[in-house]
Parts: sequence; C-alpha cells; structure tokens
Amino acid sequence: MGKSTKIIRKVPVVAIRGSVVFPYTDTILSFGRQKSVKAVNAAFQEDKVIAVFTQKDAKTSHPSQRDLYEIGTIATITQMMQSDGEIHAIVKGHNRIRLNKIVPHEAYLIGEVEEIKEDRVISPEVEVLAKKLTELFKKAVNLGKQAEIVTVMKLVSGQVEPVELVDQAASLLDIKTNEKQKLLETLTLKSRMKKVLEALAREINILDLEKTISQKTQKRFEDQMRKAMLREKKKTIEEELGQEGGELGLEEVSEYKKKILEAKMPKEVRKRAKKELKRLSQLSPHNPEGGYIRNYLDWLTDMPWSISTANNVSIKAAAKVLEDDHYGLRKAKERILEYLAVMRVKKDALEKIKTKLKIKGKDKTIKNEESQPTILCFIGPPGVGKTSIGKSIARALDRKFVRVSLGGIRDEAEIRGHRRTYVGALPGRIIQGIKNAGTKNPVFMLDEIDKIGIDFRGDPSSALLEALDPEQNREFSDHYLEVPFDLSEVMFIATGNVLDTIPVALRDRMEVISFPGYTEEEKYNITKKFLWPKQLRLHGLADEKIKLLSEAIREIINRYTREAGVRNLERNLAGACRKIARLVAEKKRYTKEIKITDVRKFLGPQKFSSLIAEKKDEVGMATGLAVTPTGGDIIFIEVALMPGKGKLLLTGQLGDVMKESAKAAFTWTKAHWEELGLKEDFGNALDVHIHVPEGAVPKDGPSAGVAMATSLVSALAGIPVKRDVGMTGEITLRGRVLEIGGVKEKIIAAHRAGLKTVILPKDNKKDLEDVPAKTKKDIKFVFTNRLEDVLKTAIKKWPPKNVKKVRKTLSTPSYIAAN
Ligand code: ADP
Repeated sequence: MGKSTKIIRKVPVVAIRGSVVFPYTDTILSFGRQKSVKAVNAAFQEDKVIAVFTQKDAKTSHPSQRDLYEIGTIATITQMMQSDGEIHAIVKGHNRIRLNKIVPHEAYLIGEVEEIKEDRVISPEVEVLAKKLTELFKKAVNLGKQAEIVTVMKLVSGQVEPVELVDQAASLLDIKTNEKQKLLETLTLKSRMKKVLEALAREINILDLEKTISQKTQKRFEDQMRKAMLREKKKTIEEELGQEGGELGLEEVSEYKKKILEAKMPKEVRKRAKKELKRLSQLSPHNPEGGYIRNYLDWLTDMPWSISTANNVSIKAAAKVLEDDHYGLRKAKERILEYLAVMRVKKDALEKIKTKLKIKGKDKTIKNEESQPTILCFIGPPGVGKTSIGKSIARALDRKFVRVSLGGIRDEAEIRGHRRTYVGALPGRIIQGIKNAGTKNPVFMLDEIDKIGIDFRGDPSSALLEALDPEQNREFSDHYLEVPFDLSEVMFIATGNVLDTIPVALRDRMEVISFPGYTEEEKYNITKKFLWPKQLRLHGLADEKIKLLSEAIREIINRYTREAGVRNLERNLAGACRKIARLVAEKKRYTKEIKITDVRKFLGPQKFSSLIAEKKDEVGMATGLAVTPTGGDIIFIEVALMPGKGKLLLTGQLGDVMKESAKAAFTWTKAHWEELGLKEDFGNALDVHIHVPEGAVPKDGPSAGVAMATSLVSALAGIPVKRDVGMTGEITLRGRVLEIGGVKEKIIAAHRAGLKTVILPKDNKKDLEDVPAKTKKDIKFVFTNRLEDVLKTAIKKWPPKNVKKVRKTLSTPSYIAAN
C-alpha cells in the first residue's frame, strides 16, 4: 500500500467564518464574497466537490493560506440557490482534509488537499461513550436545546455509528468557533468523543440553570400578577363598601359605642364622642385621619368621667395613718389634719344644705364650690418626706395618688395639651395624670412647682391656675380633649424646694406648709423606726433581725451624708442592705449587729471626713448661714484685698439684694475706719473682692450681710474669724442687725456642721421655739442687733486693744494702716 493511501487532490476552496463544517453533517452555508461565490459555482458545475476551511479570524476579508485553519472538511454541494449575488448552498461533509497549499488561480482559491483517514476503531469504551452521548443529547433536548427535529430524531435513535454521531453532535454544540475547530482537529475517535461529551455536559448545566431561573422568574411574575389583581379587586370591594359603611367594621363601631356608654360621660361629652365616631365610620379607608380620631376616642372613653373613690374623711383615722408612716413632722401633720378637718366640716355643711334643698325640691341649684378647700403646698429641700406624706394623705382618704412633675416646663401646652391639629398631639399633664389615676378625685401631686415659669413661652402658670382655681376647674378645658373635665373633686398638692420662685398668683392660691429639714436626732429616729426596717424589708432581710447600732446610724448620718433630708441616708442604708443580702445569698457569715467598722466595710471610706469646726480659722473668711433649695447650709464668705482704687468686686452669682448688702458692709467699714485701726481714706487705695462659694449656684437675699461685714473687717484688720461661729442677719449702713428668715433650717445646718456658736438677730429670738431642744442644747446662741457685737463674738480678740500693735504683729498691708 505505502504512499498510495494518501489521496491528494486539487479542489476549489471556500473560506467560511463563524462556523465549522463537520463530516457526516448537512450544513447550509451562505456565500457573499466574490471568490467564494465563484468557487462554489465552479465546483457545482463539475463534481460538486468543495473544500471547506474555517478562517482563523472572521474579520479577514481576503484570506490566504495563512489565514485558514489547516484542517477542514471536504464536502459536496447538494443544493444551491442564488439570489442577489449571494449563494446559499447545502453542503454535505464527508471527510477531514489537510490543506497542503493553495495553488495560484485568479478567480478563486484552489487548494491542494490531503484526505485524512478517519479513525473508526470502535472499542468498548467508545461504545459506552457513544451511548452516554446519546443520553446526554436527549437530556439537552429535553432541557430546551435547539436543533432540527430530523437531526434530533436521528441522533437519539441509537442507530447512528459512533463516528458519525460524534461529529453530528459536535456540529450542534453551542460553543465558540475555535473550540469547534479544535474538535474537528481531534483525530482519534475516543478523545473527540470525550471532548464532545464534556462540552455537552457543560451545556446541559447551563440549560438547567436557565430553566430554573426562567421558572422562578415566571413564578414571580405570576405572583405579582395575582397580587396586583387581588389588590385591584380589594379596591373595588372597598369602594363599593365605602359608600355604605366606610372602613370601620361593624364590630369596631359597636365596640366604641359600648365604650362610650360604659364611660358614663356627661351628656355633652357623649354627644361629642358620638359625633366623632360617626365621622370615623364615614371616613375613606385611606384617610390617615382615622388614626387620629381613634386616638381621640380612646382618650375620651378612657377618662374617668364618673369614677370616684369614696371620700370618707375620718380625722382620727387620717391622723393614725400619718403617724404610722412618718416620724416627727409635727407641725406639718397638724396643718394637714386641720386642712382635712375643714374639708370634712365643709362637706357636712354642704350635705346639710343639700338635704334641706331637697326637701324644698330644688336640688340642682347647689354648687359645691364650698367643698373645695385651698390647695396645699409643701415646701422644703429634697428627701424630707413631701412626696411620701402626700401618699399617706391619699391612703388616709382612700383615694388614688398621682404625681406629675412640672420641673422645667415652659410651654402652656404641657399643662393644657396641644390642639388636635398638631401631629402627635396629646392632652396636657393634668389630664394625663387624671387618666393614670383612673378616678376623678385622686390626690394629685404637682412636683417642682417652683421650677416652672422661669423662662416661659405661653404661660404655663396661668393654665395651672385655671386647673387649681376652684372657681374655674369644674370645667377645666384641655386643648386636646376639647370638652371640659371636672377637676373640682381632685385634691391638689403642690411641692417645691423654695417659695420665692413660685409665681405670686399661684402662691396666693396655696396654703404653704414648710418642711425645714431634719436634725441629726430626727434623722436618727427616722432611720431607726422607718428607713432601716423598710430597707431590710425591701431587700428580703426582714426575717434576719439585723440591728443597726446607734453608733453606726450616727456614723452614716454624719460621715456619709450631708443633707437636709434623708434621701442619701436612705440610699446608703440600701447600700448596706445590698452588701448583707449578698453575704446571705452566698451563705457566708454576716454580722447581726452592724457597728461603725461594718459601716466602713459596707460603704467604703467616709465621704465627709471632718466637720467644719475642726478646720483652721482664717483671716477674711466668715461662716454664714443660708437657706438653699437643698435646705439650710453653711457658706464661707471670702474677702481678698488688693491695691486699687476703692472698687468692690463681687463674685459667686449674687443677686441684687445680696450685692447691696455687700455695699452696705463696705460703707460701714469706711465709716468706722478709726475703730478698725485704718487710715481715713483707706478705701481709695485698695480694691475689695468678696466671693461667695459655690460660684455656680445663684444666691440672693439680705441675710448674708453680717457675715460679709465680718469677713471684710477681718481682712482689713488682718485678724482671723472664728470658724466655728455661724452668723446670719441683714445689716444696715449704720451697723444695725435686722431680722431674717429660715432660722430653723439654718440652725439645723449649723448643728450638722458642728458649729459651736450661732449669732442671730435679736428679733429672731422667737423663732428658736421651733428648733428641737436637743439641737439647741449643743449650740451657744448670741442675739444682737449691733454689728459691733457680732465682731466681738466672731473675730478673735476683738476689738484690738492697741490698734497699732495689732496692725504690726498681724502684718496688715501697709497701704491700709493708719498712722
Ligand atoms: P421629698 O418628696 O421631700 O423629696 P420623699 O417623700 O421622697 O422626699 O422622701 C424620701 C424618703 O424618706 C422616702 O422614702 C420617705 O418615706 C422617707 N422619709 C422622709 N421623711 C420621713 C419621716 N419623717 N418619717 C419616715 N420616713 C421619712
């Protein structure tokens, strides 16, 4: 055989782009390029044989041998059709060929080609692969692979020879041209089969994915369609219904009707509620106003229009409740009981009038204004039991208790509510409080009444006045509620720290009861009788019988707190209880008798380690007594001198009255230069700076006058003031000492600080009656109406016997010394 097996022939060549013609396949090709058209024509006129080669680059328009793949297919043209210079032909592939060379020819390409012998070895492996290929092809078609039905049927019949099968399948693959060309160039049957299988498997994967995606998309699309349709239907139904009954279900309407009935509203309010309900039921379903109206109806129906608790005031029972709940506070309790008694008497009188009138048959004309007493107002520092006594009053009267804080409110709307046109409008705090109480006659505590109206928009205090005024509050109007609510049965109690900042109009309506703060003795008893048992109870230690020894109580009072009330004291006791509770829970040993050492263990180091009196005396610093919002307190007034022109500098946020006191003190020293051992015109050569700590807290009032004058004299004379002498009193230009207020608070504070002597204006002697005897016992009181006496008591070795000597020894600055 030898060389003769190589068949070499010359045939017209067509270059094709974008596809590959395989043996055993029929392919439709279209030719537009002149050379191709001519080659096809020429071949068709002879033996119809043509060599088909794929171009390496589809963009090349006049390909030469280099531009063609080396392996192609020899084919016959079975049909041909010409139109508009283009030729469409069906070509049937036969065999792989190799292009040896292009022989020169003018009209078209002629190639010298060599036939490649087909590998037809059918091993068992090839057979298996062929079967697999048929299967996969079927699968691909099922997944939606596009192919001509005839071809498909032939391929899946299982009757096709593996050689043919693989090329036919390859020609149908959805892969790039260069990959197809590679398959054409794979000459062994087995590896070609494997490659085709691989490509087909990949295609199936993609088809599969595409199918699931398209199915999902389809489903989503259908869902959306369904929903859109349902929505449209719903709209139509709602529109139909809207003409009859609006959005409200019948159920909701009847629910509101029931609630309106149950609320037992006054007639006019009921009318209003029904009107709103009607409006609501006619609203279109999409109208956002529905929500507002519902909210409003809820408020209307939730108000306790006619719910009240029995109002049985038995003075005896009330006295017992107050006594049971609180230690001391004798004066406050008395005043409260008197108040309740008056309430009771008025009520009885009213009843009498009522019955009389009833007999006469004109029952309705009665106004029970008479039964409304003035409002109680508790004034005192924090933690003195104002709130807790308010609660006791409620308990004694069997009424509900509510508390509303007015601290920091600036806006009338806070009291009286926002109009309903505001988004998110609500009733004011009064109406909210009443709703929370759930009855129309609660004990209503208005906390921090001294903190309103300080910087206001609108006027909260005038709205408050209306709420408190018995003449007007029977028909209290809240902007949100719009209908009047009867507040006449509410028992209002206001509380605050100081009286001065309460607007005068409000103050006039109130009966002020002051809570001056507790002495150490009172705190001791409150702790023993109330706070300690209460904390034990709260911490689940009531059964443990733990005793707090007196020394421990006093330690906590003096070294861990410094306050007028008992709030921090209670906090510290709670702290100790927590520590014990933990020991109990951990089943560790704990003490049943708490001593000072235990207190230190539980609460850490002392917070106030030394008393004022234990510190050193200083020049230019006197101890004043003052009343602050947190109760009585001692303040140190400092004076510094410097060369200058007689200016008086005042710092520490002093109010006008306090400034004037300072000026009066300065003037007095100028007038008394001689006694003080100063030059006549000393005031022109120096500036005086008076400071009252703590700088950030505003202070006012005349009662620091005495202390300022004493500091000033001490500074000018260069002699220290006794630190343990506290003083209070207003001074005049002539050095007279005038009466001041808050004596009890001040003395309690002085006692707390450990002062030994207190200087008071003579006219305040009477106020000492209020001060507990035990406190008085520890303090020496000096009453006077002359500044000279104050100086004598407070400044060491005063008056200086030999002015000159004193001046020298005490290094008085030379610029103020007299000759
Ligand atoms: P305020 O309202 O004056 O700031 P609270 O009424 O809140 O003070 O009192 C603080 C705590 O001190 C409360 O637990 C209260 O029961 C208690 N308390 C105050 N004073 C007494 C007292 N005289 N007797 C018994 N407990 C008191």
